[in-house]
Amino acid sequence: MPTYKAPLRDLRFVYYELFDAESLTALPGMEDAGEDLVMTAMEELARICEEVIQPLNAPGDEEGCRFDQGKVISPKGFKEAYDLLAQGGWTSLICHPDYGGQGLPHHVDIMAGEMLCSSNLSFAMYQTLTSGAYLAIDHHASQELKDYYLPKLTSGEWAGTMCLTEPQAGSDLGLVRMKAEPREDGSYLLTGTKIFISAGEHDMTENIVHLVLARLPDAPAGTRGISLFIVPKRREEGGKLVPNGVTCGAIEHKMGIKASATCVMNFDGAVGHLVGEPHKGMRAMFTFMNAARLHVGIHGLALAEAARQGAVQFARERLQGRSLTGAKYPELEADPILVHPDVRRMLLACRAFTEGARALTAWTTLGIIDAEHHPDPERRQAGDDLASLLTPVVKAFQTDLGFETTNTALQVCGGYGFTRDYGMEQFVRDCRITQIYEGTNGIQGLDLVGRKMPANFGRSLRRFFHPVSEFIAAEAGNERMKEFVEPLAKAFERLQRATGWLAEQSLKSRDEAGAAATDYLHLFGWVAFAYLWARMAKVAMEKEGQEDALFYQAKIATARFFVQRMLPRHSAHFAALLAGAASMMEFPDEAF
Ligand SMILES: Cc1cc2nc3c(=O)[nH]c(=O)nc-3n(C[C@H](O)[C@H](O)[C@H](O)COP(=O)(O)OP(=O)(O)OC[C@H]3O[C@@H](n4cnc5c(N)ncnc54)[C@H](O)[C@@H]3O)c2cc1C
Repeated sequence: MPTYKAPLRDLRFVYYELFDAESLTALPGMEDAGEDLVMTAMEELARICEEVIQPLNAPGDEEGCRFDQGKVISPKGFKEAYDLLAQGGWTSLICHPDYGGQGLPHHVDIMAGEMLCSSNLSFAMYQTLTSGAYLAIDHHASQELKDYYLPKLTSGEWAGTMCLTEPQAGSDLGLVRMKAEPREDGSYLLTGTKIFISAGEHDMTENIVHLVLARLPDAPAGTRGISLFIVPKRREEGGKLVPNGVTCGAIEHKMGIKASATCVMNFDGAVGHLVGEPHKGMRAMFTFMNAARLHVGIHGLALAEAARQGAVQFARERLQGRSLTGAKYPELEADPILVHPDVRRMLLACRAFTEGARALTAWTTLGIIDAEHHPDPERRQAGDDLASLLTPVVKAFQTDLGFETTNTALQVCGGYGFTRDYGMEQFVRDCRITQIYEGTNGIQGLDLVGRKMPANFGRSLRRFFHPVSEFIAAEAGNERMKEFVEPLAKAFERLQRATGWLAEQSLKSRDEAGAAATDYLHLFGWVAFAYLWARMAKVAMEKEGQEDALFYQAKIATARFFVQRMLPRHSAHFAALLAGAASMMEFPDEAF
């Protein structure tokens, strides 16, 4: 069974050597959140993840959640681990001190999220959904609702959910039918059914706060007629919590994340309160969805990291065959499979993905922090533009490649990887959903090309293009960086051409944008990784002679593997998207 060691050294590298997260201490309210405090906290959480939460991962998968007459029973040990996190203040890292939180910057939550999800994705989801609910209420609800709900979500006494999906409304939320009837006292009665609701019902907290999309009686059709409501599982009456007409009808039996309860939720005249303005629910929900999309990108990274570690452990121990260039360990019956070029190819592909994804996640997160906290309005706008542009890329590229990476890591383990006992197949099963929930990856591609790319006449896109082209220009004369900068420049030039081509073609037919979306998103992802890998190589070169030399050497070597062996994949996406929509759209429907 693979063990997990939190990648604290790499987290420190990404946030404090590649990026300058220390400078966040200049922002109001974050004066104390320097590297030492943040990394000390992460060391403590790493210990809890490694010793308490990861050991619950395989048994949780085996046992799954149970449904018994409307109640959901979580696997053994989950409630105790949840209480440990809540009591240790780990549920309140980014929550405001006014509500009992620690007011730490967002990147602390992101580092914590990666470690929790690597240890046990099913378990972590109960917590990350609560964080998302906190953010949506904090950004959009009235002060009265914030004062009532946020302290309980901060302390972890209550949990949160996101209730969007209905049987007929998945990717197309304009089809939502859940009804909200106004009452004289300003509250609403909600009636309808939501499906696939993660953590919709469970036994870890005394109450669950549902954020629900529904329609008012006068609502226009489509997404412009959707409002957002807070609906608790139990509401307060006479100083006591009483049932509120919210019940769980069933839980799903699934391929993966079996310890995360995926619930059918029935609302039978449940009392709720409007969040934000009537009919503007999608806007409010986007706060939740954007945070959740970034977190799902982290799910892809986190499971790939856990699987990568399992593959490395296996490759060091498994003895098969001899090195092609003569025995490397003649004293052993055979060499460890780590010596074989094909195994090294797989291990380095896993490593180049996880470290690249950690850097892309960090860059996006720092954009969010600027957007929310920077005193300079121009920096706030730039941070918001960059983070909203990169969010669909983080979500889709990191989960498509994350799934591929868990599969590659399983392959390293051969037949043992395929067996349940070894624990690798769970990573593959658990990772598959990340490409689907929180907006399928196809929908993320459409978001990138249809919304983010043209936003503000390309302003968001320039927030990405400018630093990349400036970096290429600045490093043009750097002989040592040539091996990284030249392939980056080539891939970047193609991304620019693809962007121009797409803008032009989309004017002719929107099917062109739809047909190109996934390839464009992947091309974008490869270029973003190439830029970040080149920057990481540069930082590592500057520090190579110092303490920790092996870490920096490995960084440069992984960057080299990335540009030589992985980045060429961008060419296929470039060629595919330029081929246009015709081969798909001219295929007769009846011939499928
Ligand atoms: C385990 C699990 C947990 C979940 N948790 C939650 C939760 O907590 N809260 C919640 O509200 N929902 C949740 N969901 C629902 C999830 O977000 C949806 O399943 C997802 O958004 C896709 O919707 P769908 O399943 O209806 O697929 P559909 O929308 O029916 O899509 C089917 C296929 O068609 C494609 N497609 C659809 N429309 C378009 C289009 N316009 N252009 C191109 N392609 C398109 C999709 O990409 C997909 O490949 C969860 C689902 C699962 C399985």
